[in-house]
Amino acid sequence: MRFRISMIILLTVIISTETQEQIKTSLNPGYEQRIKDYVDTLKIFDTHEHMFNPEMLKSTNFLDFSLLLQQNSYDGFVSAGMPDSTLKQLFIEPLAPKEKWEIIRPYWNNSFNTVYNRILLLAIKNLYGIDDLNESTVETLSLKIRKAYEGDWFNHVLKDLCRIDYVIEDGENVGDKYDYFRYAKRFNSWLTLRTKYSIDSLAVMEVEPIYTLEDYVKSLKNAFESALKKGMVAVKINVSYKRTISFDNVTPETARKVFHSLINGNEDFTLSPQEAKPLQDYMLHQLLALAEKYKMPVAFHTGLQAGGINIIDNSDPRLLANLFSEYPDINFVLFHGSYPFGGELTTLARNFKNVYIDMNWTYSISPAYAERYLNEWIEAVPVSKIMAFGGDQRCVENTYGNLLIAKQIVSDVLIEKVRNGYLSESEAKTVAKMILHDNGVKFYNLN
Ligand SMILES: [Zn+2]
Repeated sequence: MRFRISMIILLTVIISTETQEQIKTSLNPGYEQRIKDYVDTLKIFDTHEHMFNPEMLKSTNFLDFSLLLQQNSYDGFVSAGMPDSTLKQLFIEPLAPKEKWEIIRPYWNNSFNTVYNRILLLAIKNLYGIDDLNESTVETLSLKIRKAYEGDWFNHVLKDLCRIDYVIEDGENVGDKYDYFRYAKRFNSWLTLRTKYSIDSLAVMEVEPIYTLEDYVKSLKNAFESALKKGMVAVKINVSYKRTISFDNVTPETARKVFHSLINGNEDFTLSPQEAKPLQDYMLHQLLALAEKYKMPVAFHTGLQAGGINIIDNSDPRLLANLFSEYPDINFVLFHGSYPFGGELTTLARNFKNVYIDMNWTYSISPAYAERYLNEWIEAVPVSKIMAFGGDQRCVENTYGNLLIAKQIVSDVLIEKVRNGYLSESEAKTVAKMILHDNGVKFYNLN
């Protein structure tokens, strides 16, 4: 009996293995290089950046090698022991490149291994012909950076070298001059409100008094509609830097009570996070109602926080599941591959038809993670729901470096999938084009 059972198991294994191996069988030699070359020819949709305006950069004291340290390398230096006061000094004091380097050097030596610093090295080698970052190169590199920005460097790197045809910028930093930029808008004044002072400043900004909860909701609607007129293509929600992304469905009465306690307080009155939460949750639902009405996609920051903020429980993507069910007509995208919640993201994107994956920033967090989960997502999630590139950077050099890593990972994952017969060569190319370009165009309604 035991023998028969073992035979059945063995036969099942043989049959299922054969079935898997037979999905795609025809391998034409040279497919590895052809896939790499194809990925290199693709136009790229960059789903997320925080670019400094290149015109504005010229008037700052960080148009030198330190530009490239923003913000990942600086976060790494702090993690490697740099005191906050030293970091402030680097931003405020007008130091020469060599003086900056002397301050940075011990922390660079502690963190040279991290991927954002490797990406920086890749970028300066390819873009500026400089092989290392050290006391003998920081001055030359800084001169080359200043010289480059005198010309049309910004467009040259993004358009000519990266072949990017759209960038979704977080906010309106870059300006109208760059017609391939579109922008996502945050509404944090409504989602993280805790002080009386914030309501007053909002009223001044929106040029309308705010006395009641209805006034407050109206101010959100006005801000939303004016952003629409200015060309907003998505709502960006990054409140997990300040609070949890678990949102309850709050009645107007409950929200009104919180609002009244705030509006009746003194100018410096502040609610605790727990006291403020029902009002903030209520406003999130108001914002989603607007997004639904205007068919605006909604992007959530999920997972790892930048800038040393470290309450990872606040940004667990599973906390959003109730919103995905409640707003089936809104398309939600979860940023940063939800690092480190990649498996959780798999389940959400697989089970909710309105949940999409965005891998922006993952290449600067851990390429090994990006590779592991791209591999999984290609197996578990419809390919139309994966967006594989966004730099999430402040300068074009770092976006360029991130894109090189992204293309390498996309190519490597797809080559492996062709090698083991999971995809044909032509299917792999279709996947590459969708995840690096076409899905972004569709998701942000730019076609
Ligand atoms: Zn970002």
